[in-house]
Amino acid sequence: MDGPSGTGKSTVAKRLAERLDAAYLDTGAMYRAVTLAVLRAGVDPADSAEVLRVAESTDLSLATEVGARPTIDGEDVSAEIRGPEVTAHVSAVSAVPKLRERLVALQRRLISEAKAVRGGIVVEGRDIGTVVVPDAALKVYLTASADARAQRRARQDSAAGRANTVDATLADVERRDRLDSSRAVSPLRPAADAVEVDTTDLDIDGVLDRLMDLVEE
Ligand code: C5P
Repeated sequence: MDGPSGTGKSTVAKRLAERLDAAYLDTGAMYRAVTLAVLRAGVDPADSAEVLRVAESTDLSLATEVGARPTIDGEDVSAEIRGPEVTAHVSAVSAVPKLRERLVALQRRLISEAKAVRGGIVVEGRDIGTVVVPDAALKVYLTASADARAQRRARQDSAAGRANTVDATLADVERRDRLDSSRAVSPLRPAADAVEVDTTDLDIDGVLDRLMDLVEE
């Protein structure tokens, strides 16, 4: 499942995994965890060589289940990776080609292990259908208007106790999408064989019903 931020992707992907009794992997959490390690190391997120060096010396782990908490060097960073500092820099870090190679290899390993154990997995990110799992049984690309996405993100932030206005969130969502869509490697875009689902006027249950229909087709 791919798409820009604020399309309801995370909520829907988790609910779908639960409904299908499948494993689940949030690849964005992996890019966020590396970004946190980069910021903690005091490294410039635009310095590819240094970003890679930090990634190579950080032990990142993430279980393939709903509610899994990412850790770096054994520390639970699930809350910190959602903060504004990480969100502001994650697109720069995730544009580093060799870092992507590293994380894609890790993602493929986790996915094949989870498939063997659980029989299936819902994976969410930006390049899952195009790069990570080009032979996925079902590829979904979620979209929504920029306004709807900013409102959802602002609601999530306020539920998590992070102050934010819809305007600031809209600017951030649009900036991140621009960066994610324009990077040289694995830019955000739907796979040629992905089903696009516009969630602007759908609630979570509406999106989930549509996805269950696609799974059953
Ligand atoms: O999904 P989430 O908003 O947590 O992703 C954070 C960032 O991680 C994205 O804006 C994008 O820069 C990067 N990302 C990526 N490829 C993925 C998943 C996330 O580049 N598969």
